[in-house]
Amino acid sequence: MSEIKTEESFRDYIATVTKEGKRKWIYPKKPSGRFYNARTVVSLFLILFLVSTPFIKVNGHPFLLFDFLNRNFILFTIPFGPHDFHLFALAIIALAVFVILFTVIFGRVFCGWACPQTIFMEMVFRKIEYWIEGDFKDQTKLNQAPWTSNKIFKKTIKHAIYFPIAFFISNIFLSYVIGMDELIKIITAPPSKHLAGFISMLAFSGIFYWIFSYFREQVCTLVCPYGRLQGVLLDQDSIVIAYDNFRGEPRGKLKKNEAKSKLGDCIDCNLCVDVCPTGIDIRNGIQLECVNCTACIDACDTVMDKIDRPRGLIRYDSLRGIEKKEKFHFTPRMAGYSSVLILILSVLSYLLVTRSDLSINILRTPGLLFQEQPDNKCSNIYDLNITNKSFNYTPIELKLKNVEGELKLLGDELNLKPQEKHDSKFLLILPKTSIAKMNTPITILVYSNDKLLKEVKTSFLGPVAEKGKS
Ligand code: SF4
Ligand code: SF4
Repeated sequence: MSEIKTEESFRDYIATVTKEGKRKWIYPKKPSGRFYNARTVVSLFLILFLVSTPFIKVNGHPFLLFDFLNRNFILFTIPFGPHDFHLFALAIIALAVFVILFTVIFGRVFCGWACPQTIFMEMVFRKIEYWIEGDFKDQTKLNQAPWTSNKIFKKTIKHAIYFPIAFFISNIFLSYVIGMDELIKIITAPPSKHLAGFISMLAFSGIFYWIFSYFREQVCTLVCPYGRLQGVLLDQDSIVIAYDNFRGEPRGKLKKNEAKSKLGDCIDCNLCVDVCPTGIDIRNGIQLECVNCTACIDACDTVMDKIDRPRGLIRYDSLRGIEKKEKFHFTPRMAGYSSVLILILSVLSYLLVTRSDLSINILRTPGLLFQEQPDNKCSNIYDLNITNKSFNYTPIELKLKNVEGELKLLGDELNLKPQEKHDSKFLLILPKTSIAKMNTPITILVYSNDKLLKEVKTSFLGPVAEKGKS
């Protein structure tokens, strides 16, 4: 049965999968041009940041740590723990809104310029491949050739370089989770001492190696959830990498002496398809597989230079910009997302600025009444929960405000270790003369090094003092 081709039928297939469902290996032509050069510089900077950050320590603590297993995070030297869950939740919501807003305005610019998958694939592993196996035509020939000594040599060298790099990348990512000190311990000690860590290190290295040597662009086209979201986030006003079909069509090969005016600017050279790492033809329109790598812009600009036409047949633009030649404008949708983002960021900033290094809860122990004490006094028992969120030793002192009485800790003095969570009890003893009613409001002042940290309001249960008695 013959296949009916429609304008949109290219959307029925994935460029990397054959009609039989088999993997179609993509051999992208080596890109070059101003965007590729700029991306190389940005990638170098980001790789340097990624690799060097785990080594940065401030006062003996990592600059960044994402210890998900122990719910322990350090962001720019500030420690966060389970007690900061509300901040974490708000930060995740802010990040989600930011990603939505950013995508609505700039499309998948993150994928092309900052995503670790694209950076490592295109700027590290692919460059090594070009260096060892040559450009796309040489690679195709090599892969189709029988296993000669030359092919075995090139493939062995390539994979012998790939695996240590994958090992290095996985270790760098691991150091963000367990910290550089722990990672060095695992690397330097015999595997039997850190068997779990050693196995996970090898497993991660194996996964990274498999992704960059085999799975490649399929991470973006089949797996990445962000890529799948594009369909609902992008609209006519989002900036994407797009082909100007008004200017380019009707496309046609450039022939000597032929009136160019009959044809559009696209000379159908196929270079934009040759360089595409996901194997798509951007001239078909915006596709989810496009990772905004800019390779097709560079390729087409080179062609336009050669045929003396203005650059930008493929360019960063919105669909509205291409159709109506309108400049970018801020749409109500963007304004809506921006307002939500500003609101969330304002709340988050307020909570971060007012966040104290200590979290203190004082509650009268439930289920207990007052206890009689000598000298016409009575007492209540209180639960004391303190979390020291800082990296400092913190002495704590409790004092009463506006009432005469005595605070007796049931345990050692309060001197909290860094990040210690402390639970204990204390007795509050008041003279009965100070008790005006059954439930007397009390304010307890929490000091550290003579600095008032917090005023905690609670209550004191006691008998009402009889008038005239002292
Ligand atoms: S590189 Fe430019 S001119 Fe060549 S096929 Fe693509 S869009 Fe047409
Ligand atoms: S269409 Fe262009 S920008 Fe998109 S992935 Fe292919 S080469 Fe990169």
